[in-house]
Amino acid sequence: MIAIPSMSFQIHNTLSRRKEEFRSLQPGIVRMYNCGPTVYSRAHIGNMRTFLLADLLRRWLELSGYEVRQVMNITDVGHLTDDDAGEGEDKIEAQARREKRDPWEISRGYTELFLSDLAKLSFVPPLVHPRASEHVPEMLEMIEGLIAKGHAYRVGDDVYFDVKSFPRYGALSGNRVAELEAGARIAVREEKRNPEDFALWKSDPAHLMKWKSVFGEHGFPGWHIECSAMSRKHLGEQLDIHTGGEDNIFPHHECEIAQSEAFTGKTFARYWMHARFLQVDGGKMSKRLGNCYSLDDVVAKGYEPRHLRYCLIRGHYRQPLNFTWGILEECRSALESLDDFVRRLRVAAAAGGPARGEELVAAARASFDAAMDDDLNTPSALAAVFALRGATLEDRLGPQAAHAALGFLERVHAALGVLRLEQQNLDQQVEGLIRARLAARKAKDFAAADRLRGELVALGIALEDTPRGVLWKRADGTGGGPIQ
Ligand SMILES: [Zn+2]
Repeated sequence: MIAIPSMSFQIHNTLSRRKEEFRSLQPGIVRMYNCGPTVYSRAHIGNMRTFLLADLLRRWLELSGYEVRQVMNITDVGHLTDDDAGEGEDKIEAQARREKRDPWEISRGYTELFLSDLAKLSFVPPLVHPRASEHVPEMLEMIEGLIAKGHAYRVGDDVYFDVKSFPRYGALSGNRVAELEAGARIAVREEKRNPEDFALWKSDPAHLMKWKSVFGEHGFPGWHIECSAMSRKHLGEQLDIHTGGEDNIFPHHECEIAQSEAFTGKTFARYWMHARFLQVDGGKMSKRLGNCYSLDDVVAKGYEPRHLRYCLIRGHYRQPLNFTWGILEECRSALESLDDFVRRLRVAAAAGGPARGEELVAAARASFDAAMDDDLNTPSALAAVFALRGATLEDRLGPQAAHAALGFLERVHAALGVLRLEQQNLDQQVEGLIRARLAARKAKDFAAADRLRGELVALGIALEDTPRGVLWKRADGTGGGPIQ
């Protein structure tokens, strides 16, 4: 089925600092690049909040009828410990030293863990997860091109980008070169033309992950040029949307724009979207406080990955959001109430009865879509789902409306990825016991019915009698549905 892309999707563009109607460069196709992780440690739940922005966008654009070409990179070399100044040690090599392991082993291990976290959190896989270390020739091509065009210069075996050669430098972050110069944050390297010039290529014989190039024997790329080269290789010279965390705006994305636009002469990305940091216990996550939780910590406490996913999308991506274990517990209850809603809708859809309640479902769907079209306003979108649940608790839906509500929840799940809609089949023994108990109740043999219920409880199956049939569910909360 070919859907016509929605024309009303509004996104907040960091570049213009306002909401704009989204239009793709090529009709029906979206090219999207997401800055991925630097794989020197386990991704924490705050990182996941940033990556979820990419996944929500991907899902909503597809539901709106676009083909989405999505690329999320893996930074496995060249990201230095002092992000702002582009100085310090390579984060991966520093971690390798701490763990007394090979840096390649470090990056491979954490890349695998990252991809497995994404899968557990129901991320839709992108077209490709390019690794920086596999794109060095593409980076060198751009660096040499930037030198040829007068935007970069060599100092010994290092290469720097000349920010004064690119007048728009600072447009994304609002930083002005003059102000940056006045600030003392950037350690001034004598050999740079301007203090805020950043490295495209560095040479260091002691670096373990290094490449031979025209610039010398022992070089490695700067972090920023990696994304310019990988996005160009996989998506072409112009992107529709580029995402990242709020900390990427400066210097990383500012530098990407300068490199890519100086090289191609074209606008690099038209929409820039940035997710706010997650707070934990009302403050910044920190290793010192021991609250840089990973998905494993969440699962070890008995939660499902989808509980965390819900917890991270229940706030709007541009607003502050807090995480505590108490909030995660509330999220679990909220999702269980929706699981229960699904079971009740299945009963109502299968039962007879007059047509009623269609307008409630249509209104919920319209509010959900309007919220998602409004810069992915997930809290409002979720509110529409809970409003429908609240309005229909008293069995106010007829069978057709219950069907429509289940269809709406499928759309919600396609957009948000947090519901449990699959119907779990009962094994024949359990179904036989439920039916035998129903028959016993019909025959008013309540002793037999109670005994059969006891057998089901022993098998981990809970039953609830409703006016429209019996609802079963597993005691561990997985699965469940109606039996007529
Ligand atoms: Zn990047």
